Amino acid sequence: MLQKILIANRGEIAVRIIRACAEMGILAVAVYSDADRYGLHVKKADEAHSLGEDPLAGYLNPHHLVNLALETGCDAIHPGYGFLSENSHFAEICHLRGIRFIGPGSEVIRSMGDKTQARSAMQAAGIPVVPGSEGNLESLDEALALAGEIGYPVMLKATSGGGGRGIRRCDDAEDLRKNYERVVSEATKAFGSAEVFLEKCIVNPRHIEVQILADRFGNVIHLFERDCSIQRRNQKLIEIAPSPQLTEEQRNTVCDLAVRAAKAVNYENAGTVEFLFDQDGNCYFMEMNTRVQVEHTITEAITGIDIVEEQIRIASGLPLRYSQDEIEYRGFAIQFRINAEDPRNDFLPSFGRITRYYAPGGPGVRTDTAIYTGYDIPPFYDSMIAKLIVWALKWEDVISRSHRALDDMEISGIKTTRPYYQQILRAERFCKADFDTGFVDSHPHLLRYSEKRHKAHIAAVLAAAIAAHAGL
Ligand code: ADP
Ligand code: ADP
Ligand code: MG
Repeated sequence: MLQKILIANRGEIAVRIIRACAEMGILAVAVYSDADRYGLHVKKADEAHSLGEDPLAGYLNPHHLVNLALETGCDAIHPGYGFLSENSHFAEICHLRGIRFIGPGSEVIRSMGDKTQARSAMQAAGIPVVPGSEGNLESLDEALALAGEIGYPVMLKATSGGGGRGIRRCDDAEDLRKNYERVVSEATKAFGSAEVFLEKCIVNPRHIEVQILADRFGNVIHLFERDCSIQRRNQKLIEIAPSPQLTEEQRNTVCDLAVRAAKAVNYENAGTVEFLFDQDGNCYFMEMNTRVQVEHTITEAITGIDIVEEQIRIASGLPLRYSQDEIEYRGFAIQFRINAEDPRNDFLPSFGRITRYYAPGGPGVRTDTAIYTGYDIPPFYDSMIAKLIVWALKWEDVISRSHRALDDMEISGIKTTRPYYQQILRAERFCKADFDTGFVDSHPHLLRYSEKRHKAHIAAVLAAAIAAHAGL
């Protein structure tokens, strides 16, 4: 078993990994930027090391992180999600320097991180993919010709994209012309790659993803699916496990496809295979995420399996300790991503001091967060500050329990998306478990929840927050 792990991340996921280490008797080493010196992960780890002044550079510097791991006597690095978690170069450096990277091999990270390569690999394995380009697009003309063949609407997507960014729906040729250069430039800025490709737009699909565990001996199991159809601007807001919208037959089909997908690429460690279901119930491979996911928690709630612990066991070289028929699920779990944003003001980031934090508890309630009363949220990072996970045996009960838990939760001093979720829970179609990715757009009060649209102010607010932080 691994003995000491450096966690190359921050916030709630770093704390989540430290908790797994503590239960397994493994030492955890935290790293932190100046802005994060009061971070909970720093307090909870067995050791913590500064990454210096820059808020991001340290978390994104593979060589420095590997050096730190070696200097502190670590035998492994857990990358969490975001930052370097899907950086194949980082996994490769770890490997070359004798540090175990807790995730799949660098080749798999590279090929699955490239959405067009992933599509080809899946097609070769006989897995249905969304109809679209064979590889990357060479030009706007090629895009126009292809879109004419597969039919509008189409989705223009960044090949190396992630986090719901670099995706544009185009309803006609005019739209495609308008968006092509925009997506290319967005992709270049956000992901350092100008490559884009095109897919048929599945209108109002359901986003269904399957959690996979695979060891180095070729054993692959699934931990059932999650329904992440409740999204805003292609970003997940609420996730549910298992999907209350699938028949048992659909569940078996998609879970088997995910296992086949993982086997086809010799996958190792935890991973997620994402699919889209169209309105007729057909399912298509969309992409594979080669890391622990934000919403792994709800799968833990319904299966009782600690996914981070399994990641560490797999990276230690141990075989899976469960066979597929030992995995069962029970009840329903919902996760709410609590973001430090003002939903009444165009989801403007809301930074600053948390004057009071009270975590909801009681049966079936879990909160994963790194905030505490008196904590100052730095303006440099992702706005997700807490995950509220609610479990109950029945769908009706998980909804009433979610109301209760969201009411119970208290975060003062900043604005959060909590009231937005309270609205979603009241929507009839949500309660009836009948929703797709068009859910927010089809509810005028959710679509126009924001009373103000101060887009231009975002930069000013951010700059002020950064200046205030520097002066602390
Ligand atoms: P998940 O896929 O786990 O459901 P997200 O899509 O929200 O969750 O991604 C988790 C985090 O990782 C977010 O902070 C997101 O911005 C970041 N992220 C995901 N993919 C990429 C990528 N390709 N490049 C940069 N950041 C990414
Ligand atoms: P990311 O890497 O950012 O997570 P994905 O390829 O997983 O990107 O897509 C994110 C979301 O965008 C999906 O959950 C879905 O809502 C929407 N989307 C992506 N591709 C399509 C498509 N071909 N048709 C319809 N919606 C899509
Ligand atoms: Mg995705």
